Amino acid sequence: MSEETTKPSNFIRNIIKADNESGKHGGRVHTRFPPEPNGYLHIGHAKSICLNFGLANDYDGLCNLRFDDTNPQKENEEFVNAIKEDVRWLGFDWQERLFFSSNYFEQLYTYAVQLIEQGNAYVCDLNAEQTREYRGTLTEPGKNSPYRDRSIAENLDLFSRMRAGEFVDGSKLLRAKIDMASPNVNMRDPALYRIRHDVVHHQTGTEWCIYPMYDYTHCLSDSIEGITHSVCTLEFADHRPLYDWFLDTLKVECHPQQIEFSRLNLQYSITSKRKLTKLVEEGLVEGWSDPRMSTISGMRRRGYPAAAIREFCERIGVTKSDNSVEMEILDACIRENLNENATRAMVVLDPVKVIITNYPEDKTEELIAPKHPQNESMGTRVVPFSRELYIDRADFKEEANNKFKRLVKDKEVRLRNAYVIRCDEVIKDEKGEITELHCSYDPATLGANPEGRKVKGVIHWVSAAHGVKAEVRLYDRLFNHPHPDSDKEVDDFTVHLNSDSLVTLTESVVERSLVDAQAGTVYQFEREGYFCADSELCRDGKLVFNRTVTLRDTWAKIA
Ligand code: ATP
Ligand code: MG
Repeated sequence: MSEETTKPSNFIRNIIKADNESGKHGGRVHTRFPPEPNGYLHIGHAKSICLNFGLANDYDGLCNLRFDDTNPQKENEEFVNAIKEDVRWLGFDWQERLFFSSNYFEQLYTYAVQLIEQGNAYVCDLNAEQTREYRGTLTEPGKNSPYRDRSIAENLDLFSRMRAGEFVDGSKLLRAKIDMASPNVNMRDPALYRIRHDVVHHQTGTEWCIYPMYDYTHCLSDSIEGITHSVCTLEFADHRPLYDWFLDTLKVECHPQQIEFSRLNLQYSITSKRKLTKLVEEGLVEGWSDPRMSTISGMRRRGYPAAAIREFCERIGVTKSDNSVEMEILDACIRENLNENATRAMVVLDPVKVIITNYPEDKTEELIAPKHPQNESMGTRVVPFSRELYIDRADFKEEANNKFKRLVKDKEVRLRNAYVIRCDEVIKDEKGEITELHCSYDPATLGANPEGRKVKGVIHWVSAAHGVKAEVRLYDRLFNHPHPDSDKEVDDFTVHLNSDSLVTLTESVVERSLVDAQAGTVYQFEREGYFCADSELCRDGKLVFNRTVTLRDTWAKIA
């Protein structure tokens, strides 16, 4: 059964269903994800990827990956490769349908010649400033270019000489001849081709010195590929008349339907490649895959499972109204997934030593703990227990009331997966800082409380001799403003960067089973949160873990 019947509907699915019923595209569904390779993909793109590939999946259709690579100055191969990796990692397969708009440059040139021959395009010599002036404004119509009425022959000649490299950058444009008085500025004789010498295109090298504009290229690339539903974000709604004009005027065989949906804005983060580029270029983050970034590569490194991101995209739905999604929704998807799938481990983030004074010095017990409290099929792990342990500094107080369900001087607590201990003595250095806790253990308490004995608190621990030092990076939101890039009060969104978005702990101790943690694997550090072995910094035996997400939503409390 296709999933069509099980997924909640939305306006795009309704359009497709109606098209399939009327036979508009012969029942075909063919979508594409069309990134410009000028940066890394972010969570907003994930929504578009899930939507385009998801629709194709659900309606037994196809989805292409197509790079709209019309701006070689801003694009490069690194971005192309990163985008391919991200789409694949998210769980989607374009099979053999990887395309570049630059594959069609010759065909697009032929189409442009056709427009000239029809009298629908002309070569214009106005410079950039004049072109802007002639365009008019939102409230005033534009003026016709003095070059608008060049003869077809002259236009054909000039355009072929543009291609041949006779003219310098900016000296000429090929423009569509539409309507300089149109209320829609996109229709005021938009540019089709510009001249760009001295750039090397990542796909076509130096073969071309004229490059087609995005709007012209995008619709024709869709048409060439036989796309049926060209799904894009709302800001392109005003470009739709132009999209249709090119296809109608050229009388192409395939005329895809452009459908706009509202882009994803995620609170406390940025979904604009241009602004993400600024963060990277100004060194405000540690590159595109910094785990605090809303990039797909950043989220991957942070430990977000691809399935959780897909679930998030499903949950937020597809609409036409602009909105801003709460971070809590994404966090909840991550937690739900990891709660089910992450192996448990004990890690002491801020260690203080515990000496079990009644435990033999040369003894080690190999205690067994489950890898997951509910899912037995995940198996067990060995946690060595010995006379010297570490517990977290925050899990001890010299004095506390009953609400503090951890270790208190002269009181008992259970060590998770092990024994009940009592703290007998607190050792401090000359500054008054606690250096050791001398405790005694009760051998009769392994696994369960003896009858009639109530020990409420449970804390985690690691054997000092068996644990392994690790660096733990505690990440928080990159911005401390819910809408960092739409705050009208400031010019520069980077003033909203959260200066506490990364806290690095260098003294943490992880249980022995994590010594060969595979990069990218996420664990639940019991009582602390979910943490991912870092894919870039774990090397030569060094262990670095990134906090993926806390166990609970601590922000809700603060707000
Ligand atoms: P940015 O503004 O971040 O540079 P873009 O639209 O220029 O984004 P493209 O590479 O052109 O980036 O995007 C590829 C596809 O992803 C487009 O179809 C675009 O509409 C879609 N897309 C981009 N940002 C979002 C978003 N925030 N939410 C949903 N879809 C998006
Ligand atoms: Mg774009």
